[in-house]
Amino acid sequence: MSFESLGLAPALLRALVEQGYTEPTPIQTAAIPAALEGRDLLAGAQTGTGKTAAFALPLLDHLYVSSRGQAQPKTPRALVLTPTRELAAQVHESIRGYGKYVGVRATTVFGGVGMQPQVDALRRGVEIVVATPGRLMDHMERRNVNLSNVEILILDEADRMLDMGFLPAIKRILGNLPRQRKTWLFSATLAAEIKSLAAQFMREPVEIQVASPNSVVATVTHRIHPVDAARKRDLLLHLLLNDARQTLVFGRTKHGADKLTSALEKAGLRVAAIHGNKSQAQRTRALKDFKSGKVSVLVATDIAARGLDIDQLPMVINFDLPMVAEDYIHRIGRTGRAGTEGLAISLVSRDEEGLLRDIRRLLKQDIAIEAVAGFEPSQLLRLDDSARARPSNGRPPQRHARRPHPGNGADAHPGNRTKKPQRSGGNQRFSRPA
Ligand code: AMP
Repeated sequence: MSFESLGLAPALLRALVEQGYTEPTPIQTAAIPAALEGRDLLAGAQTGTGKTAAFALPLLDHLYVSSRGQAQPKTPRALVLTPTRELAAQVHESIRGYGKYVGVRATTVFGGVGMQPQVDALRRGVEIVVATPGRLMDHMERRNVNLSNVEILILDEADRMLDMGFLPAIKRILGNLPRQRKTWLFSATLAAEIKSLAAQFMREPVEIQVASPNSVVATVTHRIHPVDAARKRDLLLHLLLNDARQTLVFGRTKHGADKLTSALEKAGLRVAAIHGNKSQAQRTRALKDFKSGKVSVLVATDIAARGLDIDQLPMVINFDLPMVAEDYIHRIGRTGRAGTEGLAISLVSRDEEGLLRDIRRLLKQDIAIEAVAGFEPSQLLRLDDSARARPSNGRPPQRHARRPHPGNGADAHPGNRTKKPQRSGGNQRFSRPA
């Protein structure tokens, strides 16, 4: 699947090439054609899935293709509502990036900053307003903005807006919009209250839920190495230098991936990197070199690795755990294919305990936790037993005895411990290797 085949305007495709996007993510593949057809959308997608582009691209396409020339003062043609100013700023940035060649103007409206610059921008005229509900209502009351010409309404992270108590504000805002409009609702979950909101304000929406496969290939062995964050890089080197297999290493950020790549190169490993800041040519080259064995390590970020066509990869190492548990499955999905054995290693530090719990909950299986000799963490990892499947007799699973790892210094540094007790009652444990 390519962006071209989704039906987007060439001016948008050009910007996507510059951003280094090679192919649409699943939410984009599902949402963009439906949105371009003029349908309402009810989309279940979390941050990290590419949801922003999934609405920003068809939004820009619509405004560009049906351009009315100079934007009219105070009367935007599209409204994006977000729960926080950070998200509003981020969405605005994305819109600017994707819209670089389409000449569509956008501005943000959120609290905590002066009203006047926002008033001025609205008065000059913009096609898109990205707003948080509270500040937008202020502007509506002062007649700084007129929403009667809005053709597209986007609710981003709708579940969070409801959690934050924005429902009354959203209802007021919706009351000021024309009935003839398109509504695209994005939410991490499509819980009952979201669906009820959708039923009130949307017309036969296309419902999209990004697949979150919750099973992984049985031929993959999962292993967790607890380690102090500061020693992760040394541990990674140790593992890579002792295992010559082709390895895909996942980092969370582009910057982190770059730093890791140069550290591994310095140690004499043949490494390539693939992430959002790399040009398409660089990415294609990296992938080719990895597949041909010219480089033995490929460092990637989650989104960049989506849709990478690498078969029968023997080893994946998660240098950082993914922020979204489903991404663990996407990452690991590349190993152990076609009946081959695969190994999935995660380097986990104390600050990632919560992420690890989410992953174990999703996998519904225990993962061996083994410290590597010489890299034992200075504190135990704390895991919540409730994350594990209950046995069929309905009784809670037996607790493992606490087994401090040799060299574990948790008791030696009581001051480093988290003060807040665990929800499960401080059930600190160290699970046995399976
Ligand atoms: P989001 O889920 O919208 O927060 O997007 C997460 C990250 O993925 C952002 O950094 C986007 O720039 C990036 N991204 C979105 N779509 C793609 C794509 N098709 N290919 C590569 N990166 C993407």
